[in-house]
Amino acid sequence: MPHGYHGKILVVNLSTGAMQIDEHDETWYRTYMGGTNFGMYYILKHTPPGADALGPDNVLTLMLSVLTGAPFSGQSRMTANAKSPLTGAIGDAQAGGFFPAEMKNAGFDGVVFLGKAERPVYLWLKDGRAELRDASHLWGLGSWETETRIRAELGDNKVEVTCCGPAGENLVRTAAIINMRNRAAGRTGLGAVMGSKNLKAVAVRGSLRPTYADPKGVKAVASLGAAEFKTNRGMQELGELGTAGVVLSQEFAGGLPTRNYQSGHFEHAEEISGERLAETILVDRDTCYACVVRCKREVETDDEYQIKRELGGPEYETIATFGSYCEIRDLAAVSKANALCNDYGLDTIGAGATIAWAIECYEDGILTDADTDGLALRWGDAKAMLAALEAMAFRRGRLGNLLAEGSARAAAQIGPDAQARLITVKGAEAPAHMPQVKRSMGLIYAVNPFGADHQSSEHDTSYEENSGERSLGWLAELGLTRPVPATDLGEEKVEFTLITQYWTSLMDVLNLCQFDWGATWQLYGPSTVAQVVNAVTGWDTTLPELMEVGARRVNLMKVFNAREGFTREDDKLSPRLHQPLTGGVSDGLRVTEEEIEHAKDLYYKLAGWDVATGNPTMERLQELGIGWAVE
Ligand code: SF4
Repeated sequence: MPHGYHGKILVVNLSTGAMQIDEHDETWYRTYMGGTNFGMYYILKHTPPGADALGPDNVLTLMLSVLTGAPFSGQSRMTANAKSPLTGAIGDAQAGGFFPAEMKNAGFDGVVFLGKAERPVYLWLKDGRAELRDASHLWGLGSWETETRIRAELGDNKVEVTCCGPAGENLVRTAAIINMRNRAAGRTGLGAVMGSKNLKAVAVRGSLRPTYADPKGVKAVASLGAAEFKTNRGMQELGELGTAGVVLSQEFAGGLPTRNYQSGHFEHAEEISGERLAETILVDRDTCYACVVRCKREVETDDEYQIKRELGGPEYETIATFGSYCEIRDLAAVSKANALCNDYGLDTIGAGATIAWAIECYEDGILTDADTDGLALRWGDAKAMLAALEAMAFRRGRLGNLLAEGSARAAAQIGPDAQARLITVKGAEAPAHMPQVKRSMGLIYAVNPFGADHQSSEHDTSYEENSGERSLGWLAELGLTRPVPATDLGEEKVEFTLITQYWTSLMDVLNLCQFDWGATWQLYGPSTVAQVVNAVTGWDTTLPELMEVGARRVNLMKVFNAREGFTREDDKLSPRLHQPLTGGVSDGLRVTEEEIEHAKDLYYKLAGWDVATGNPTMERLQELGIGWAVE
């Protein structure tokens, strides 16, 4: 067994209670390395085509990587995969904190869940042992209470917990899996998959640290990150302000989505900025295992919202979706929405964007009081936004059941006028990076296998002539040497999108935090990735070999989608995302359907895929050693 792994993947059949440990050889570990790749290996083999995403046939995987739990910044993340109940395509989400490192110490590289438990259960992993325990008493509880009670009954305050909240139990299609009360594996509704399986939580604790081939080399990487942090002002600002620190730069660029993506300019941006958060309700910073950056927020208020710090503070995406998307300028209300999402187990992007869509529909008379159970959904009305969120999490009334389906399915129930206001791709709501302003976001939102996602490639602004030596130097290590303006979507930009998609896929396979590890401004760049993988494993990997590992992830997910009937036609932005923006410096900016279609032609060709269907060719899959995926 290679260093860095335990060589144990636990397969749990929830229907029968049977558990087995799969042991793979070193070649398997070097081929897939972790995260989504491990997950796809099991999902493609065990999920029947056309399976109901909320039925027992769906396979849920929680996977670590070779690097998880090693003592340097940005390695404590876990990847969740399953067929998405939101999109019907592959679902994919990552979350950090202390849970992933502790799961590694519990003695496993990952867990696969098959079937459905007869009654609520949680999985308890400790020092190589696994036990399914009754969770009937936890059903209905939020993430905070769930963690508190599990720790109390196991008699250990250091047990780490990941769970679904009431939203997942209620099969809300934007439900998240929540680590340590406030870290969400948010996108694509995988909390609902947990709920559908009667799987309330996974609790982990252990002392089985994997061995490292070159412990001094691993330590050197930790020292490198710590030294870099002392001089890297951008990383220090991330620590000081969190991702909320980009609210104002997004506004200055005309890229702060406002009123359900109608504008990139929010006149009250300053009131919801990271700076304002720090000056007012921020009480502390939090971190993930071994990370020097401490970018996570702790927010507390003693006002009408009664926000508790244990449920965390809002990220940029959350501030935008519950703030500017909904025209809400009250940071405490936005932070309350964030706390509720973390406790109830909801994706803040999916939930906030769905509410913004509903507000616009109500304002335009497309949704009526009969649809909203009499709740007046108005731009800027924080109380109405929070009431809609509560209704969604618990599927209360007509409104709650409508919103719980996610905006695309809800709009399909309402009609074409509602669909015209969607900001979705494959049914997944768009995050707060506007394709009108950063064109490669338009392409990656369209082609990404699990829908619109802002962490699936690097952003355009890092690949301009004036992007700086560090960014351009690191991108050059990936073979990208032709920078172009952010609004360009030609051949150079398409190459940038695909290559950095492989790169960010590698980050997700290795479960590395993209704030610490990246190809533009982070603590660590491309060459350090090969260095650290080799220090941990003793292998002799190179950057090109690792980029193939990233490419494997994209192709495996795409094969799953092709099997489910997805084609090029599904790689489309909803009409609203093509409309010109209004107001601010981005007034009039747009990305047309023709531009995206042309970019898709270039992208599929470069990816070695069939341009007509947008799906991988057998030749490309065989080249990557994953031809089996088609069988
Ligand atoms: S940079 Fe932030 S999110 Fe990433 S590992 Fe560190 S504390 Fe966690």
